[in-house]
Amino acid sequence: MEGPEVEWDHYNFEMLNIPKGHPARDMWNTLWVDYQNEAGEQPMLLRTHTSPMQARVMENSKPPIRVVVPGKCYRYEATDATHEWHFYQVEGLAVDEGITFADLKGTLYAFARRMFGEDRKVRFRCDYFPFVEPGVDMSIDCFACDGEGSGCRICRDSGWIEIMGAGMVHPKVLAGVGYDPEKYTGFAFGLGPERIAMLKYGIDDIRLFYANDLRFLRQF
Ligand SMILES: [Zn+2]
Repeated sequence: MEGPEVEWDHYNFEMLNIPKGHPARDMWNTLWVDYQNEAGEQPMLLRTHTSPMQARVMENSKPPIRVVVPGKCYRYEATDATHEWHFYQVEGLAVDEGITFADLKGTLYAFARRMFGEDRKVRFRCDYFPFVEPGVDMSIDCFACDGEGSGCRICRDSGWIEIMGAGMVHPKVLAGVGYDPEKYTGFAFGLGPERIAMLKYGIDDIRLFYANDLRFLRQF
């Protein structure tokens, strides 16, 4: 599925368990559209992630759900070699009866091995995203130094490389679209394809993807 890049506050934040005034909103430096509704609110924005499509997809369908959402996102950021003010995300969502954290781990482990090699190990650590509970970041052991770490530029001496955020869909998100969280569970993940490509092909500056230099683009 694909979704709108100009999005409502409602889907980008509120349906994802990030109400108005919640400090978690500071995690997403948001570009707001210069539009006021009759209540004097400014409810339109450039989506900061592909996650609003979780709510849009679930609102319009019944479980079981298996969906991948690629698309462009925007954030009000100073740019440098690893940050762009626009970038892509790929969102994944699975909702059904009986989906567990083991399904999340198995799916993402399979992805890591297909993308970065059959020998990869993965590591899950607790992380906070308001729309999942529990939330994790997933790392792979560094393919450049085989997890050794010391002196490695790719993993900055740690032996691990973070590649995506994920978690079990928050019961409030499920309830918000009319699903019974006692009956249905699900997992979601989001990753940045530029980051994956940078790791895989040794690209050292994210801005190269959008500079329209054909010498860069033609390599692929
Ligand atoms: Zn390394």
